[in-house]
Amino acid sequence: MKNLISNISSSISHLLFPHNCLGCATDVLNDDDLICARCLTELPSTNFFSSTDNPIEKIFYGRMKIEHAAAGFYFTKDSLMQHLLVQLKYKSNREVGVYLGKLIGYQLMQSNRFNDVEALIPLPLNTKKEFKRGYNQSMVICEGIAKVWQKPILKDAVVRTVFTETQTHENRINRWQNMDGVFAVMNPSAIENKHILLVDDVVTTGATLEACGSMMLQTINTKLSIACVACTV
Ligand SMILES: [Zn+2]
Repeated sequence: MKNLISNISSSISHLLFPHNCLGCATDVLNDDDLICARCLTELPSTNFFSSTDNPIEKIFYGRMKIEHAAAGFYFTKDSLMQHLLVQLKYKSNREVGVYLGKLIGYQLMQSNRFNDVEALIPLPLNTKKEFKRGYNQSMVICEGIAKVWQKPILKDAVVRTVFTETQTHENRINRWQNMDGVFAVMNPSAIENKHILLVDDVVTTGATLEACGSMMLQTINTKLSIACVACTV
């Protein structure tokens, strides 16, 4: 009887609040998941978290001293990963960020390379964008990571100081010049003598991460690693 009631109430709740996979729309998925098991296996994993000298680490060679860097998935056009990131960045779907963060958290946990990271820092978003979106997507990803990989998140240790227009169409040199002075370490003592993991959604040229990371590395004995959800390399 108890089971029957619980089944009925679960069916009613499914009718009232349908829970469908964001990939294929099936309703066969756990309540906590946003995509089904089949779509999850089809996300293109990079395996970079476990690989030394992976393409993300190579982006920063000769540009900035990092301990380790990785992105969890390949970003391709018209893919499920693109759809998820659009949901996170333009459709106010905060939950997607937490979910993607958890996927990255598992990858960080499984790789032993990042074990001595002491805290997470989300790449700061400019205030105007954060206000428009209602959240910083990198912060939400950090929250997801911390749910499965218990590390503290340092919220306001690093900030973005000036507003820059969207830079999608500019080349790397212009981007770097525009990035000059964009980031500031507000609370050096929070990152001093610490190994920090800087977190972002997608890495392309690495210019923004480099601008922020270089500022952080000016703090005494700060070590830097980088984790992103997806990459275009
Ligand atoms: Zn699915």
